Amino acid sequence: MKTLRLFDTLTRQAREVKPIDGSTLRFYCCGPTVYGPAHIGNFRTFVLQDVFRRMVELGGVATLHVRNITDVDDKTIRDSQAAGKSLLDFTQAWTERFHADCEKLDCFPPHVEPSAVAHIPQQIAMIERLIEAGNAYASDDGSVYFKISSFPEYGKLAHLETQDLDMGRTANSRSNTDEYEKDSVADFVLWKSRRPGDGENFWQSPWGEGRPGWHLECSAMIEEYLGTDFDLHSGGVDLVFPHHENEIAQSRCACGGDFAAHWFHITHLLVDGGKMSKSLGNLYTLDDLADKGHGAMEVRYVLAGGHYRRPLNFTLGSLDDARSALLRIARFDQALADAGAAPAPSFAELVESSAVYELGDLQPAWESLSDDLNTPEALGHVFTAIKGADAKSLDSEAATKWRCALHVILGTLGLTLPNPDTSADESEIPDEVKELAQQRWDAKQAKDWGAADRLRDELAALGWVVKDTKDGYSMERI
Ligand code: AMP
Ligand code: ZN
Repeated sequence: MKTLRLFDTLTRQAREVKPIDGSTLRFYCCGPTVYGPAHIGNFRTFVLQDVFRRMVELGGVATLHVRNITDVDDKTIRDSQAAGKSLLDFTQAWTERFHADCEKLDCFPPHVEPSAVAHIPQQIAMIERLIEAGNAYASDDGSVYFKISSFPEYGKLAHLETQDLDMGRTANSRSNTDEYEKDSVADFVLWKSRRPGDGENFWQSPWGEGRPGWHLECSAMIEEYLGTDFDLHSGGVDLVFPHHENEIAQSRCACGGDFAAHWFHITHLLVDGGKMSKSLGNLYTLDDLADKGHGAMEVRYVLAGGHYRRPLNFTLGSLDDARSALLRIARFDQALADAGAAPAPSFAELVESSAVYELGDLQPAWESLSDDLNTPEALGHVFTAIKGADAKSLDSEAATKWRCALHVILGTLGLTLPNPDTSADESEIPDEVKELAQQRWDAKQAKDWGAADRLRDELAALGWVVKDTKDGYSMERI
């Protein structure tokens, strides 16, 4: 394998990522809670996990990627009832939407995608083992809690200081909610007894009717699909505490073993310099951005292009920059083709070949990716190399090599290039034309076909034609 070093949240060090069994890298990602469309913050995490997987596979190691679907929790129950749908119908529809969005972003589907509701018996069995081992106890109302004072290593992943973990205090405090803050460290809920608001969403258990706590599903599904020891666990940084801390406590106490060998956490996406929120109107979905004329590849470029350990500030302007950047690469790729380069290899073909060993001018880009997945530095190297290269002077063999190397880096980042013949660079389009094109797009979204046609004619008079694409539009000179 080509070495990949990645920061590990537990040891706070960059460590080499390698499969315990020497052949397949087995990793788990906490998946979406399916009660609405995923936003671009969620997709920052899923895209980076996809880049990680692509990097491992191109490095010559097979992967086993498990990602769950959270289809029962407070939010899914609340919103399915508000929508007047069964929990199953409600979560299935949002799961399908999530899959469609992932496909638009070219994220590989996980090899296994288990859901919480489909693993209730496994979760109950895990609670029984925890009670038997003295790590959990039932309360009077039929809920069951994990006793964190029974697990001395609690808090190690989140690097909680001893004062945060006053076991004397926490011994008597409990939290029945799925998420809580560090200053309220408490015994957490494994089984929630049935509440009136739960409607029909409950299951029978040795402690009466109820449902599992949110943290438990990942532990149960990891045991089922990855066993007690596996290579890497990942999620957004908000999951370090309490979710992942609680997973470790449950799994280590119920199953033994070391649990995850490596922890990969992705820093949150900010929008316009702040937290995303519905009330600020900046909680974007892929559809919201498509409505503004931006395709999923532009979104992927922005999300993949930030270093995963630094906050990434998303702005609509960054999508325009992404469009220009992709077009610059596409034009260079076209120049290589014109110089006689063979067609660009697909990702699967690259994995089969030893393309990563012959990267020429793009070797530094690969080194950046290998060094803690430094995607912005890698893209910087791509542009430096493109600037320094004269595609026209290459013979077909050299052009083919260059093209192959370029597609190794693009394949790792999961970027597909636009058609350079039909797309215009943002900087080449006059503001007036951009404004009219956006107005036409808005008119189309509003199904005002008359206005849309009139604006198309105005654009044509200025020498521009709008081409609608799968999820946006591009501009061409007539
Ligand atoms: P959820 O659907 O809320 O369970 O979250 C799915 C994934 O998205 C988890 O790994 C979260 O940690 C991650 N996530 C949530 N918000 C953001 C954000 N603003 N930036 C990056 N990742 C996020
Ligand atoms: Zn999880």
